[in-house]
Amino acid sequence: MQAEIVTIGTELLLGEIVDTNSAWIAQQLTTIGLNLYYTTTVGDNLTRITDVLTRALERADVVITTGGLGPTVDDMTREGVAAATGRDLYLDESLLEEIRAMFGQRGHQMTSNNDRQARLPRGAEIIHNPVGTAPCFAVEQGDRLIISLPGVPSEMRYLMEHEVLPLLKRRFGLAEVIKSRVVRTCGIGESAADALIPDLMVLTNPSVGTRAHPGQTDIVITAKANSEAEAAALIAPVEAQIRERLGFRVFGVDQDTIAGAVARDLATTGLSLALVELTTEGELAQQMADASRAHRGTFGGALVVSDQSALVRGLSLEEPLDDAFPSQSWADSAASAARARFGADLALAILGPLNPGSPDAGEAYLALATPDGIRAGEARRTREGTIGRWSLIYAGMDLVRAYLLAGNKQH
Ligand code: ATP
Ligand code: MG
Repeated sequence: MQAEIVTIGTELLLGEIVDTNSAWIAQQLTTIGLNLYYTTTVGDNLTRITDVLTRALERADVVITTGGLGPTVDDMTREGVAAATGRDLYLDESLLEEIRAMFGQRGHQMTSNNDRQARLPRGAEIIHNPVGTAPCFAVEQGDRLIISLPGVPSEMRYLMEHEVLPLLKRRFGLAEVIKSRVVRTCGIGESAADALIPDLMVLTNPSVGTRAHPGQTDIVITAKANSEAEAAALIAPVEAQIRERLGFRVFGVDQDTIAGAVARDLATTGLSLALVELTTEGELAQQMADASRAHRGTFGGALVVSDQSALVRGLSLEEPLDDAFPSQSWADSAASAARARFGADLALAILGPLNPGSPDAGEAYLALATPDGIRAGEARRTREGTIGRWSLIYAGMDLVRAYLLAGNKQH
């Protein structure tokens, strides 16, 4: 079964409003197992609306439109649906009464152009709209179905949930559910992850795909089945395979975060972590503080510095450690000093260049101070902004995870 979405409104094409309706509808269609191959946006122009709807009806079993159902002359969806299905518009007296009554209840006088909203393509089935004034409708065209919903997102969502999704399930006999499981990994790029699971990447049910984020790769397993439990049963063995092949690289699933995973591992081993951050600008401290709410005592504190002199003063370091700043020896000393200063079991220092992303920016250095000495991270170039910060955060968290895992093995 195939669906197609058509969002109608010139303001969408002008970029004045962002088309959030189609994204939301697309997610809903997925949950009931309808495939979506096309989404089109068209302006308030009758010829082009008719053209788009005609084409959509040729290739999809169900077409869902949003917008253009208001009372003004530029609201042209009713006319477009009538033209695309070869019908005329008629004035539905009962609908007119309903609209009139609604205006009465709200204490407004109905204007003559509100009549337009009571005009429907002949043979349309009315979808009552208790949350707005724009009446909606469905038209059966042979074995095809076209459903027109209002543009206002809250109204559209209400009608989708309460009317359209149940109608689609009934009409197309859809009992299918689609369920996804996201396996979250770090310290491995998308292509390297892909190379470990080539045989899984070609499966069809469940299907397996990768999504790259800065410093992190998600592996998404998606199954279609007749029930949640059946979908979960299809996913489980594939997830087990992925975990086996990627091992330590997997830090969590679904909503898990890297800071949450590290806080959990720290809690298990009974250790605490302090931080020194430059370049990451306290973002990791924020994440660890959030995560440690569920794992008390795992976050030992953080020093966020803006430059070398703040670092020297903040940790009472002795200058000069090294002519260049930042450098590995600066990172090592900062991590050791922070471990002592915060009285933490571990301390991670992330010292990047002051001007990440610029052509002359140097590398970033990471160090983890532990009871058994310093572990240095790999020096790395960083990008500016969120991407740069997060790739450093993942690199730092990777150092901590590697230490905790090795520690666990010794015990
Ligand atoms: P109304 O009777 O309220 O005019 P309508 O069906 O005619 O409803 P539009 O006039 O096309 O809908 O849109 C009403 C408002 O809904 C727009 O101004 C916009 O803020 C929002 N809207 C419309 N389409 C979308 C969309 N695709 N995504 C997000 N918002 C939308
Ligand atoms: Mg309108």
